Amino acid sequence: MKVLVINAGSSSLKYQLMDTDTRDVLAKGLCERIGIDGRLTHKVPAKDLKHEAEIPMPTHAEAIQSVLDALMSEAHGVIRSVSEIDAVGHRVVHGGEEFAGSVFIDGAVMNALEKCIPLAPLHNPANITGIRACQKVMPSVPMVGVFDTAFHQTMPERAYLYALPYEYYEKDQVRRYGFHGTSHRYVSGRAAAMLGRPIEELKIITCHLGNGSSIAAVDGGKSVDTSMGFTPLAGLPMGTRSGDLDAGIMEYLMNKYHMDIKEMLNVLNKKSGVLGISGVSSDFRDLDDAAAKGNCRAALAVDVFNYNVKKLIGAYAAAMGGVDAIVFTAGVGENAASNRMAIASGLEFMGVEMDEAANNVRGKETVISAAGSKVKVLLIPTDEELMIAMDTAEIVSGMK
Ligand code: ADP
Repeated sequence: MKVLVINAGSSSLKYQLMDTDTRDVLAKGLCERIGIDGRLTHKVPAKDLKHEAEIPMPTHAEAIQSVLDALMSEAHGVIRSVSEIDAVGHRVVHGGEEFAGSVFIDGAVMNALEKCIPLAPLHNPANITGIRACQKVMPSVPMVGVFDTAFHQTMPERAYLYALPYEYYEKDQVRRYGFHGTSHRYVSGRAAAMLGRPIEELKIITCHLGNGSSIAAVDGGKSVDTSMGFTPLAGLPMGTRSGDLDAGIMEYLMNKYHMDIKEMLNVLNKKSGVLGISGVSSDFRDLDDAAAKGNCRAALAVDVFNYNVKKLIGAYAAAMGGVDAIVFTAGVGENAASNRMAIASGLEFMGVEMDEAANNVRGKETVISAAGSKVKVLLIPTDEELMIAMDTAEIVSGMK
């Protein structure tokens, strides 16, 4: 089946056309500056081909049309007509408590998605715009929604409830939702496959460490806890996000510097994390370079990040009553051997023993723990697009 995977942001849209039988990426690309002017970057991996064009994209509908034109073009196309696209899979950030799995998108689902907008006012409107644009341009192609939050809907109450007045949960849906669910689901599934054991028997801690970072405790294939919360601001310190902090700090800083809540949240979302501590960069490559040249705050930022990841691994091992495997994924997790080593060292007491030579690897599925390590440590590149395409193919073929 040929599935078009769409990840729509407010002014950009990523796409990937995938053959779900062979798992080949037929074409992929990016529309940028939607609503401003419009730029398309289109790649065909099999031909090592890259095409760039300035195309007017006043709305997402023109962006999707330019994607279809590129996919069908004589020069750099991979299909002859839209009818070759069997289904479209959409990444949707927030599914609230409405969606515990991927769904076929119909009128009722669109209404439920609208209901989730207050929970993710920055992300969900763009996702919905992307779905409506595809419906306009490809009215007869079935569409599926895949949610970042869905995998974490299995968390028990004790993990998702905040210790706030209960009515904020009951009336206002204030609770931990968690994000990166598609990635945590994919890598935990791959971990079980790599270990050659049924996922139902395994306790896995998945560390998605990128520009945004989160950790999940996956017990028997189900997420039982995760570090992001009501929003993706919670949990670990990230590239530019603070992660968890004492809410009292906000009142103190807002009073002292006469900030309103918008300005405060801008600091917490855009100016904090490893960028905030280092004053150098949100990118771990820049931090490593700066630290190697003697920049103490860059080294400290990396140390704070690694320490918090290590602390949560301990917490989730305690929550699950043990751990069989720890997985590293996403930009930092897949590429930064030094971060992985710093995080995993010192965990020998709980049965983690790293293999320094095996850990010296980037971007490919590898066991990086020592042969005798009780807890296996794995590097697994994430593939959220593949998960979205496979879910979409499964749901659509089940309807035929
Ligand atoms: P996003 O959350 O935007 O999807 P990614 O998962 O792509 O982020 O991760 C991007 C981050 O990965 C970069 O900001 C950078 O910090 C980190 N990264 C990528 N390559 C390396 C590397 N070789 N060494 C250290 N960090 C890296």
